[in-house]
Amino acid sequence: MKKYGLNELRELFLAFFEEKEHLRLPSFQLIPQNDASLLLINSGMAPMKTWFTGEQEPPRKRVCTCQKCIRTTDIENVGKTSRHGSYFEMLGNFSFGDYFKHDAIVWTWEFLTERLGIDPGLLYPSVYIEDNEAFDIWVNVVGIAPERICKLGKDDNFWDHGSGPCGPCSEVYYDRGRENGCGDPGCAPGCDCDRFVEVWNNVFTQFDNDGAGNYTELSQKNIDTGLGLDRLACVCQGVDSMFEVDTTVSIINKVSEISSVDYKVNANSDISIRVITDHIRASTMMICDGVLPSNEGRGYVLRRLLRRAARHGRLLGIDSLFLYELCHTVIDINKAAYPDLIEKTAFITRVIRTEEEGFNKTIDAGTSMLNDLINEYKTGGITTLSGADAFKLYDTYGFPLDLTVDILAEHGMTVDNEAFDKSMDDQRKRARKAREALGDLAWAGIELGLDSTPTVFTGYENTICTGNILAIITQNEISSSIREGDEGIIVLDKTPFYAEMGGQSADHGTLTCGEAVFDVTGVQVSKGDKYLHYGSVRSGALTVDDAVTSEVDLTRRRAIMRAHSATHLLHDTLRIILGDHVNQAGSLVEPDKLRFDFTHFSALTKEELSEIEHRVNAMILDGLPVSASEMPLDEAKKLGATALFGEKYGDIVRVVKMGSSAELCGGTHLDNTAKAGSFSITSEFSIASGVRRVEAITGVATLDALNSARGCLSELTGLLKAGSPDELAGKVEQNIKTIRELRAMVESAAAKSAGGEAVQLLDKAGSIGDLLVLTSIVEASNADKLRQLADSLRDREPRIVAVLAYVDGDKITIISVCGKTAVDAGIKAGELIRDVTKLIDGSGGGKADFAMGGGKDASKLKSALDSVENLLKTKLGI
Ligand code: ATP
Ligand code: MG
Repeated sequence: MKKYGLNELRELFLAFFEEKEHLRLPSFQLIPQNDASLLLINSGMAPMKTWFTGEQEPPRKRVCTCQKCIRTTDIENVGKTSRHGSYFEMLGNFSFGDYFKHDAIVWTWEFLTERLGIDPGLLYPSVYIEDNEAFDIWVNVVGIAPERICKLGKDDNFWDHGSGPCGPCSEVYYDRGRENGCGDPGCAPGCDCDRFVEVWNNVFTQFDNDGAGNYTELSQKNIDTGLGLDRLACVCQGVDSMFEVDTTVSIINKVSEISSVDYKVNANSDISIRVITDHIRASTMMICDGVLPSNEGRGYVLRRLLRRAARHGRLLGIDSLFLYELCHTVIDINKAAYPDLIEKTAFITRVIRTEEEGFNKTIDAGTSMLNDLINEYKTGGITTLSGADAFKLYDTYGFPLDLTVDILAEHGMTVDNEAFDKSMDDQRKRARKAREALGDLAWAGIELGLDSTPTVFTGYENTICTGNILAIITQNEISSSIREGDEGIIVLDKTPFYAEMGGQSADHGTLTCGEAVFDVTGVQVSKGDKYLHYGSVRSGALTVDDAVTSEVDLTRRRAIMRAHSATHLLHDTLRIILGDHVNQAGSLVEPDKLRFDFTHFSALTKEELSEIEHRVNAMILDGLPVSASEMPLDEAKKLGATALFGEKYGDIVRVVKMGSSAELCGGTHLDNTAKAGSFSITSEFSIASGVRRVEAITGVATLDALNSARGCLSELTGLLKAGSPDELAGKVEQNIKTIRELRAMVESAAAKSAGGEAVQLLDKAGSIGDLLVLTSIVEASNADKLRQLADSLRDREPRIVAVLAYVDGDKITIISVCGKTAVDAGIKAGELIRDVTKLIDGSGGGKADFAMGGGKDASKLKSALDSVENLLKTKLGI
């Protein structure tokens, strides 16, 4: 039997069934589409359910695939048996109401024994005990001795899943030899030990189960087969376990290399090596298909796989991050079959790294906390960790319970499981309460309900207040707590933080509760008017219902207010200086920085800009009081308050007034314009037809800008040796003049030198008829010099025909010029260049009096130049 590689076997199978008129389809994604009953695709047929039930038409009645599969139910088996992976690939051929048992059985045998050359003496078919039809085909068509066919019962060989299509199976087992068996005299195909390995399962879906165990024959009979690619590779490569097939063994080797632990030396470390190998393979494939680590559903499966792999890494003594590197080996061996792994390499690496880092931190923090607890308990002579402590480790610090159990066991201790479960239950109740407080979840980033009470904003009057945590969101999911290092969103019932709104940036600051500090770096309002505080926990942990002190970063808030009030002054000034047609078209307010878009049809002149800047600063210097008051919309309109065109306002609006400016505005403002400090326009330009943008700075930013300009001037004054900045302009003018003069001198010197060289070269020219011919390899410093020289030759001597070459490394530049007399005689520089460069593997072209080209083969250059004389003679008929 030839030893086929795993990738070869995949192709052999698919090609074999293509020959049998099957349509080859690529593997479906691991995330099931339109099938809520399944977390992850676990077999070849799973993504084809609707083709089997007849709900949807398959693209062809015969299909074959190699399907990526994840079996969460096998996770615990991984590393312990030699034939189970949490991820594996399943080859399958399928018939939707087309061929049935006869062809399926005959082709199974043909592929295994003839195409792959597996010894038929080691293969054992099995059939369902009542399926005489399949038995007959094996005996009479394939020619298997009846005693070699195993008849198995419903548990093993009848595929049935509640109601719907179902039917008997016929499997093929491979005998790995008595030495791999359990030794039981009754050991035969179907035994759970590692001797007889099921490689292929043919399911004949021929009945419909009505759900009550009544079976009726289906009119459309189907074939659904599954052949584990990894297991087939074991058989074909003569290896004992799926971890030793050619592709997977490279992951095993890499794990060994990283951990410096040899494989097949110690049974325990072997399990760890296999677990890591399997889990990193499954994780890489899952992330590639769009699964991300989370606390629920398939995201949790992924998190569990990655964390288990990380933990086994620690058991092997690896204490740095390694999984994110290991995934490259997985990608390498799979990229030919799944090319999207290549495109997503950076993404996969990042996801794994982030998860691994998070887990490592958790483990370190959790282990030290658990050790402290263990010491405390031991001192008190207690051997059972309380449910509350175990739960705190798990819930607040993300420390896995199984790890707690393992570590406790090392100290002869246990966990109060019952109390742990109760805490878990309470936590679920709290989470439910939080969910109710928020309303329904929707929206990729979480949409909070419209129905619940809005957050109260206290930030006009105060920048500090106390409030309660209504909800916590981490990784797009509702959580009951958030801890040190975690990023997330905290929802409060009351807040002084201004959220990003109407162009104004959000406040930053902190939420504190005892030792715990959450840094707020962004604030948004949800549709239900809930304030979402984005940020991360600097220290400690926060839990739903905690009372927190919210404190806005005043320096940032003041800078934002300076920019916002200045924006109102600018708006008012633009309308006064440019006219009433000026309407706000957009605005952005950041700390001491603003951007204001408005309708206007021409660029602002320097004078206008200066006048605008001047008026705004005058209003600042006047120290005008700023007031904000709420009133009915009608009243505000009567006051002449500027509203945004097209904006919808409620019945009650807030009007902000300062000097001649009155605007409808919800933003935070100074109480006096003087506090803006100063205002300076940094740019003005068009952003669309009829819309201009002014960018400006205020307060500290204007001081910074002034200082940086001053620094720049002083540096220039030094560099240009000016007595004071006032002299700079004169100095620069003088320097420009000097540079101009020097450049003219250099150019004339270069022309002169080219002229001198040209005269020398002309001496070497030979004559052909009335013309002078010159070929030469010249020493020029660059192609420009060569051109100057050639021009000079042509201008000096009308009879000249010159071909000059210049070699720079392995690049040859050639120029040809023809004087007026030569051109009149019918000689063309362009033709000469073409003929000559052809001889040195190059090309070129140009006009009659000047042409240029290049080539590569310097060894032929001299003979190419020598050929010019003959070319000319031919041309002139001499
Ligand atoms: P087993 O009893 O060995 O777990 P199974 O009955 O679960 O196998 P099927 O559901 O019939 O297997 O899947 C079809 C084929 O997929 C099997 O014949 C086998 O080759 C392969 N297979 C199943 N589970 C795994 C796994 N965890 N890892 C690798 N291959 C598998
Ligand atoms: Mg199984």
